[in-house]
Amino acid sequence: MKFYIKTFGCQMNVNESEIMTGVLEKEGFEWTENPQEADFIILNSCAVREKAEHKLYGAIGHYEKLKKKREDLVIAVGGCVAEKEKKNILNRFHGVNFVFGTRNYMDIKNLYDKAKKDKRFADFSDNFDKITAELPKHPYSKHHGWINIIYGCNKYCTYCIVPYTRHFEKSRPIEDILKEVKYYNDNNYREITFLGQNVDSYGKDFGDKKPKLDILIREASKFKSIKRIWFLTSYPTDITDKLIEEVANNSKAAKNFHLPVQAGSNNILKKMNRRYTREFYIDLIEKIKNTVPKVTISGDIIVGFPGETDEDFMDTVDLVKKIRYERLNIAEYSPREGTISAKYYEDDIPKRIKNKRFQYLMNIQKQINHEENEKYLDKIVTVIQENKTKSGAYLGRTINNKVVIFESDESLIGKFVKIKINKISAGPLYGEIVSKENDRVFNKTESYI
Ligand code: SAM
Repeated sequence: MKFYIKTFGCQMNVNESEIMTGVLEKEGFEWTENPQEADFIILNSCAVREKAEHKLYGAIGHYEKLKKKREDLVIAVGGCVAEKEKKNILNRFHGVNFVFGTRNYMDIKNLYDKAKKDKRFADFSDNFDKITAELPKHPYSKHHGWINIIYGCNKYCTYCIVPYTRHFEKSRPIEDILKEVKYYNDNNYREITFLGQNVDSYGKDFGDKKPKLDILIREASKFKSIKRIWFLTSYPTDITDKLIEEVANNSKAAKNFHLPVQAGSNNILKKMNRRYTREFYIDLIEKIKNTVPKVTISGDIIVGFPGETDEDFMDTVDLVKKIRYERLNIAEYSPREGTISAKYYEDDIPKRIKNKRFQYLMNIQKQINHEENEKYLDKIVTVIQENKTKSGAYLGRTINNKVVIFESDESLIGKFVKIKINKISAGPLYGEIVSKENDRVFNKTESYI
């Protein structure tokens, strides 16, 4: 039996696909990268924007055609669109055998067995309690592991579908997460990323209601093989002083906060139900920058939210210039059925204006990236080497999330290398290796970051 998984959207989906892959392999299924030869096709979907949802529908239509040649092919749709649309998917796409939810993906083998026996069905059981470190998984990377530490979202931003597709926040027990960290450690992984919609809310649903991401990072950093610990995505009002200090003082904690602001105008923030003001956000970033040397900030922004005036947009531009993000995901507002903004606010910003604002902001961000990257020219930086890029060169990331491209070879994947930067762009930095882990001079080669 061969299976193929197509994953859309965020890193949480990637992690859940890794677990489905592990579960199916343990049951004797074989993973294939070729859907043509698969007996079972799983689509793990994303509903954040309309575009992502349409991509899913295009893919279902494509795979349904394979059924004409292979009647016994089983097609399943999971993830956020499945949660949003439920049985509608079965009604619209007759080739789909079953749809399943964001909290029963670990049951994928049983669901497959049921599909072989029964009629077409939808199953959205909440099996949160089955999410443990004991679940089999097949990490797609050999040196970096994703770990979902908190599921769901309680924030109800008016534009966002996530609270409806991923339900209320629930944190995994700390001991169980540390078992998963141990798994990666014992398999010689060097980097892990703690994931959550609001990763810094981790533990707020436990008895004492206190966020505990700082404790988790501290405990995870005790594992010898794990050299870097990342976390995303953070919510501005959940960041604590303790977390900022842990990141500043723990040499394994990545010096990067992914902290979406979504808008720079207080009017729009209020309409979005973001629970802070631009002044609060700017002060928070200042505190982080003053406490964590060479920290970088990345973020998300939505342009063209209902009612966004030119003045509101210029407030966002002004904020972006103040914060000087290392990376910025800019999205044009996309009304999502079922959300508060789709219900109560008219999508009144024309597509042309949304796109103009998108381009304007993107150009400003590129300029900021270029200027910030100039600081790295001729400096030596330390990265952990990742996989080959399409160009044949290798990629690595510094501890503050700067992407560096350099010539290397496969033997150094997952290893520390020091790179002298000799070229910059608005995107990655470019350079050449000056020393590598285990070289005698490695520890003596001074590094800017
Ligand atoms: N929990 C995070 C937050 O909002 O702080 C991330 C949620 S979402 C999975 C990732 C990003 O998608 C958001 O930060 C937002 O910028 C974008 N997004 C969410 N809903 C959107 C919508 N309706 N239209 C456009 N972009 C949207």
